[in-house]
Parts: sequence; structure tokens; C-alpha cells
Amino acid sequence: MAPTATGRYYLPAGLPAPVAEPDGLDRPYWDGTRRSELWVQRCNRCRTWQWGPEWICHACLVSDVGWTRVDGRGVIYSWERAWHPVHPALKGHGPYIVVLVELPHAGGIRMLGNLLGDPQQVVTIGAPVEAVFEAHDDAKTPFTLVQWVCEPQDAAGLGPRRPRRAI
Ligand SMILES: [Zn+2]
Repeated sequence: MAPTATGRYYLPAGLPAPVAEPDGLDRPYWDGTRRSELWVQRCNRCRTWQWGPEWICHACLVSDVGWTRVDGRGVIYSWERAWHPVHPALKGHGPYIVVLVELPHAGGIRMLGNLLGDPQQVVTIGAPVEAVFEAHDDAKTPFTLVQWVCEPQDAAGLGPRRPRRAI
């Protein structure tokens, strides 16, 4: 079980549930998360990696963009410790950590998520992180969020290595 700030899920209930685009553009990503797999786009012609999902390749402009499963390991490119409740469901919850994770093995594409573990943990740019698949099976339409955890984990498998007071 992934480490969480509130128990079962990292963020409290009441936030809008993500859904796949009705046109199917990002369906492979969401289907992959349900299998605890990370899928991203890659152009079938020029092989450029791409995230988020688009109908055309930003590099060569063809519409022949495919999907590829990638390793769920990356590094922290940027991060923010959010204290302000940007949604009513987050009132009294903060802080929580938002990370922009770069996937060096996939062309350096970057993905947003939360960093699990102690919300006041030390966060280091360039630190290795690993995807964690947070399944919301009890949702009206079940979905799975991709969250991130620092690696290596401590002996108990619970994320933060050196918690300290937040900045
Ligand atoms: Zn291309």
C-alpha cells in the first residue's frame, strides 16, 4: 500500500474525479493506470516522446502518434509545497506536495503529480522518484491516479527519508 497523508488516498475526498476525454485522446493513459502501468505518447514517424496527449506530433506535425508503456521512474524537475486550499475539499488539509517529474528515459517528458509521504519532507530537485498507482475503485467511475514517491524508500517502504520543518 502506498504511503498517504490521509490514509487511503493522498488527498481528501471531494475533489473532482479525473475522467478520460470523451474523444478518446487520453484513453490509453487512463486504461494503463488501471493496470498500474504508465503509458505516454510517442510519434510513430519521428519517435519523439510527447506529454500530455495530443492528436498530432509537436515535432513533425503528423497525426500518427502512438502510445508506449514506459518505466515509472523519473526525477523531480520542479516541485511546490501547497498550503493554500485551491478547492473547498482541501480546506484545512494542507500542506501537500506537487511535483513535476521528468522521465529521462522517455525524452525528458514531464508529468505532474503529488509526492507521497510526509507533506513536510525535504524535497530535492533531481531526486529519483517512482510512480505509485493510487486506485480509486470506490469512485462512481473507478479511476487510478499516478502519484510519486521518493526512492530509495526507507526500510519500512514509507517514502520520506529525512522529514523536517517545511519551508
Ligand atoms: Zn513526429
